[in-house]
Amino acid sequence: QLANGNDIFKSLNKAQCRAVSSEAPTVAILAGPGSGKTHTLTSRVVWLIDHAGIPPQDVIVATFTNKASNEMKARIGNALGDGRERGVIIGTFHSIARRYLVKYGRRIGIDPKLRSDTPLEPPVARAWISRRKAKGTSDEHTIRDKKGRSVESQALEKCFQEYQGQLERSNLLDYDDLLVRCVELLRTFPQCVSNIQTVLIDEYQDTNGVQYDLMKLFAQKHRRVTIVGDPDQSIYGWRSAEIKNLHRLLREYPGTDEISLEENYRSSSCILDTALQVIQQDQERYKKVLLPVRDKGTRPVLRKLKSSTDEADWIVSEIKRIRLLSGNMIDFDDFAILLRSASLSRHIESTLGREGIAYRMVGGFKFYERTEIKIILDYMRVIHQPDNNDAFARIINVPKRGIGEITIRALLEEAERSSISLWQLVDKHCRGQRRAKTNIRQQTENALSGSLIKPLSNLRERVRLDAGLGTPMNLVELVQKLVHDLKFQDYLEATYGAEYESRWANVQEFVTLTEEFMRQNHGDDEALPTIDGVAQASDDDLLARFLSNVSLASDKQTEEKDQEGKPLVTISTIHAAKGLEWPVVFIPAVYNGSIPHLRADDHNEERRLLYVAMTRAKALLYLSCPQYTASGGGKTTELSSFVDLLPSSAFLPKGPSFDRPIMSSVAKILSRELPLDSVIYKGIPSMTAPEDNLFPVDPNQPVNSHTTGEASYGAWPRKRQKLQHPAKS
Ligand code: ATP
Ligand code: MG
Repeated sequence: QLANGNDIFKSLNKAQCRAVSSEAPTVAILAGPGSGKTHTLTSRVVWLIDHAGIPPQDVIVATFTNKASNEMKARIGNALGDGRERGVIIGTFHSIARRYLVKYGRRIGIDPKLRSDTPLEPPVARAWISRRKAKGTSDEHTIRDKKGRSVESQALEKCFQEYQGQLERSNLLDYDDLLVRCVELLRTFPQCVSNIQTVLIDEYQDTNGVQYDLMKLFAQKHRRVTIVGDPDQSIYGWRSAEIKNLHRLLREYPGTDEISLEENYRSSSCILDTALQVIQQDQERYKKVLLPVRDKGTRPVLRKLKSSTDEADWIVSEIKRIRLLSGNMIDFDDFAILLRSASLSRHIESTLGREGIAYRMVGGFKFYERTEIKIILDYMRVIHQPDNNDAFARIINVPKRGIGEITIRALLEEAERSSISLWQLVDKHCRGQRRAKTNIRQQTENALSGSLIKPLSNLRERVRLDAGLGTPMNLVELVQKLVHDLKFQDYLEATYGAEYESRWANVQEFVTLTEEFMRQNHGDDEALPTIDGVAQASDDDLLARFLSNVSLASDKQTEEKDQEGKPLVTISTIHAAKGLEWPVVFIPAVYNGSIPHLRADDHNEERRLLYVAMTRAKALLYLSCPQYTASGGGKTTELSSFVDLLPSSAFLPKGPSFDRPIMSSVAKILSRELPLDSVIYKGIPSMTAPEDNLFPVDPNQPVNSHTTGEASYGAWPRKRQKLQHPAKS
């Protein structure tokens, strides 16, 4: 019982209660997904502040994402009810480190106006440097370059020094530095954290060496640490997260109170069962107990579709159907689509867009908002219409051609004065027909001419039918040629370092998009008759049509940004979905090459990723796989071996029964939901029907008592009530 009368223990089971109120200096909770680790950690913070009397500002809580910290703060605030949570130092390791550096960094020579950034560096070196910093030591001196050759450690060492020097000269810290320098600060000036009495960490399985060092330093005075985590959900090995930090903790903090939580409160037992069968394929994992608390529910659905487009259509139609069947009680925000990589989102985004269903992207930008896609689109706009000043101004120096902001502005002004477009002006400069009033140097003019005006004019001619150069170039060829001429792959590699692969995957996805567009549209054009001597649609028109399609699709996306409060479907990467949960989860593209990912070294980590994704689902889980994917040149796929290994009994058998039990089981699962989650489901009596007891549900009818046969469960409540959050109101 808290001072304000709230009973935080009411919503906790025995083991959770023990963890919340443990008097041991160090508490470690290792338990499976949905067992209430985060809930317990949050409750412990409340208990420490309210019951143990620790001042909020003496508590540090590290979460894995900013979103998670906001949520946790809101929940702590909810329980305390008096605003004390505002004092708690809560955030990601990076944001906490940044706070300390801004406040005390001057002592180690860091300007409080520190900027943090990821400077542009050759990716191999960048990745190595990042790994080296993340480990907190420099034990890894040999790495391999892209072609698998080992790189001389000395050269890298030199590169490292050089890189570090540059950062220092420009008063920059990269993201790794935030942690590394904070470690340095706290080692030298421990008094900065002398007030800290206790440190709590969520998602501990994904901490790396330097974060471990930080944790220890934060807690150096009182050595009071609470960690919660799940080795089965360790999915950041590529960021040097290390499971051995767990053993290190147990070694360095003897007497740790180890508590296990063995009940899963999140998923239906059928879903949990299938997810566990996946993770159990890993023979070497540390085994723990995880028992379902929820009803049996419905087994996951596994569907093979013809193509990615069919897959997207199917997912979206399922979303609409379930929403309808539930009489909108299950609304758009109850659905999540979880992807192994962000480049897979495009089909789903466009189907949702077409159906007018609003969605949010977590862990990445919407497809058309991604920088690399915007650049290519701007090039296409200029090819279509060179006088488009906005588009031309955006690409004039991308990739870099040595033209600064000031020059671009001066050029725009000059063009305006002479009432010509920017393109015409630059073109004239390049032809030497105009001497610059603005100071463009000869060198720059040459660069512009060679790398922008000439190739673009050339492409422009080639996409137009009237150029008399034979068959016009189609859109696919255009994009490919453009990407090639711009050396776009090199550009992305040099600009984005370790992130480059996913950017490049997006570009390839864009090529696929144009292929599909051609398939859908080209035939139409050929069928168009020539009337009164007017030629049939040329490829230039196709380009125009393509661009207007794209801008329609992306306009819709921007509109949706403004409509706050409207329930949105979530599209997220699996990585960014960690710790979260939804009533209905779709995992598309479950094929070899996607998950496990083509370039993944560690298949166990890929399996854990799938496990994380599956265990996000509360009531319904859908796995799907297109039999053919057009991405990357097109290929037939094979079902992910993680799924292929499962017995067919792990999934709902196909057939007409497929959609019948779904609604009843959803109702059942959600009716047992406790009001913990600041969500109350009101008025749904609990149900007792077994899983495959088929109700004669007409999929076109909203579910109502009279349609449900023997196990009547009454009318669905029209509205699910969500509790107002005091922090928000
Ligand atoms: P993950 O490993 O995925 O991060 P977790 O162990 O952190 O999962 P939580 O997110 O804390 O699990 O809890 C999962 C769900 O179970 C939440 O909806 C939470 O409110 C609910 N829950 C947790 N503990 C209990 C309990 N004792 N009784 C009822 N529901 C609970
Ligand atoms: Mg959690």
